[in-house]
Amino acid sequence: MSGNLYLVATPIGNLEDITFRAIRLLKEVDLIAAEDTRQTLKLLNHYDIKTPFISYHRHNEDVRQEELIQKLKEGKNIALVSDAGTPVISDPGEVIVKEAIKEKIKVIPIPGACALINALIASGLDTKEFVFYGFLSLNKKLRKEQLGRIQKENKTAILYEAPHKLKQTLKDLEEILENRQIVIARELTKIHEEFLRGTTSELIEKYQEPKGEHIILIEANQEKEQTKEEKMKKEMTLEEHYTYYEKQGFTKNEIIKKIAKDKGVSKNEIYQKFIN
Ligand code: SAM
Repeated sequence: MSGNLYLVATPIGNLEDITFRAIRLLKEVDLIAAEDTRQTLKLLNHYDIKTPFISYHRHNEDVRQEELIQKLKEGKNIALVSDAGTPVISDPGEVIVKEAIKEKIKVIPIPGACALINALIASGLDTKEFVFYGFLSLNKKLRKEQLGRIQKENKTAILYEAPHKLKQTLKDLEEILENRQIVIARELTKIHEEFLRGTTSELIEKYQEPKGEHIILIEANQEKEQTKEEKMKKEMTLEEHYTYYEKQGFTKNEIIKKIAKDKGVSKNEIYQKFIN
């Protein structure tokens, strides 16, 4: 029988942020596949975990994946951990998860810290619906496309960013966001944890030398997207608007009612304009 692939969340700064179940599993599995072995070793030492570990990162993911799948098929239990937080989220793992599922190997998530969720819950922004963009692309065309989507986004948008790229990203956001509020969640669970709130321009000014780890959260665009038709109707002259509905076979009274609704004014106002 195959072993299980456990996706184990680890702390994002504060070593206490790990579950009893995660620690037990890290002790019990046959092998830990770690994105950053040096970082993981600190955690293992802290909790006196002696399980053998090997590296599994972006640059050896394809080769390692085959090796690990083989071990899983042989019945070994493996825990996948990333540098910090929840593996597979902007971290390696997607490849092996997909392959394990294909091979009918059980994939078991072990919940714990996830940077984006903790940034979101304390951001004060809308949490009912949100969109996670991960790291913005460095490819100019793709980045522009993503920024265009963020501009129109009617849900809270969440971005991960590296400290040395934060300023540039804030400048890019400044160009598209006008007065929308953003929140920067910095150094979560660490000594210098802080939440900075304001418009992009305010935060760029406040925040000249970003240090540590950051997440950018962007308030949803509150403007409703107008349909092409709604836009067209708003831009029509009264005469054009009248003809538009006349062609559709509406009576004079119906047309006046409809124009008033489209333009957001009273029926009487439109009626008066037609009399004059
Ligand atoms: N898989 C991890 C997770 O979702 O919890 C995130 C890994 S991703 C490679 C690293 C990014 O997550 C950082 O660049 C930063 O944007 C964010 N991050 C991780 N830990 C953080 C922390 N303690 N405070 C703020 N942001 C953090």
